[in-house]
Amino acid sequence: MHPTSLRLFALLVLPLAAFLAPAQAALRVFACEPEWGALAHELGGNLVDVSVATSALQDPHQIQAKPSLIARARNADLVACTGAELEIGWLPVLLQQSGNAKVQPGQPGNFAAADFVRKLELPAQLDRSQGDVHAAGNPHIQTDPRNIALVATALVARLQQLDPANAAQYAKAGADFSQKWRQAIARWTAQAAPLKGAAVVSQHKGFVYLYDWLGMKEIAVLEPKPGVEPSAAHLQSVLETLKGTPAKMVVYAAYQDSRPSEWLGRNAGIGIVKVPFTVGGSDAAKDLSGLFDDTVARLLAGAAKP
Ligand SMILES: [Zn+2]
Repeated sequence: MHPTSLRLFALLVLPLAAFLAPAQAALRVFACEPEWGALAHELGGNLVDVSVATSALQDPHQIQAKPSLIARARNADLVACTGAELEIGWLPVLLQQSGNAKVQPGQPGNFAAADFVRKLELPAQLDRSQGDVHAAGNPHIQTDPRNIALVATALVARLQQLDPANAAQYAKAGADFSQKWRQAIARWTAQAAPLKGAAVVSQHKGFVYLYDWLGMKEIAVLEPKPGVEPSAAHLQSVLETLKGTPAKMVVYAAYQDSRPSEWLGRNAGIGIVKVPFTVGGSDAAKDLSGLFDDTVARLLAGAAKP
């Protein structure tokens, strides 16, 4: 090979190869949702090879346990998911079909983020009647960055347990992330101060942790029950509710059909806010920081509308 082409080869192909196949990766992580894939990447760096099962444009309640996903779970050292029954419709069968003993529930290779936060909307008794998909409490914990911090601490410990040889590197990454994240939470909380007390309508009960963090008030939900499509009659009743109790905006997630929110926004004359919901849900939500930068910016824009 000519020396120039050799140099070109080294410049172009070698970094690409390193990017595609991190030879030094110690752990293969299978993340159910983009936020946990992003967090594993933040904490594991080049020690982890992260594969994410779903995108921000998919409803995490409704995923098919496809053969391609099963194959990825088969090779995983760690399965990192939300838990709280978010993936109850697909993860149990996926894990079972994978035949991978390391990642079954109860094993160190099975990590459920919701186990490490205070869950909201825990029902007094389990009730899946009428299709309620939140029967074990609200699973959408990633919408509050304080939960991300709690999960990060637990995930560092789990990575160390699975890969003790690199424990010091995970500890360092965890400390760096924790410091960066504390500062970011302070910044977002200050920016979002005008949202405190704002009355909002949600399309799905996907944002209770976000509202809890920012002090926003959910006064109505377009789905009659979590996971049940908004009906014309229910939308009409929400519109009636808003006549007595006005709302600032209606909020929906990037993966959702925007039409129910658009209908309410148009008929009630209020703002319509699409939030990214997870990493990849908007151009700006490229990583976990971008997710909250963009979420706060979009809510503020929605609240500022006359
Ligand atoms: Zn849900």
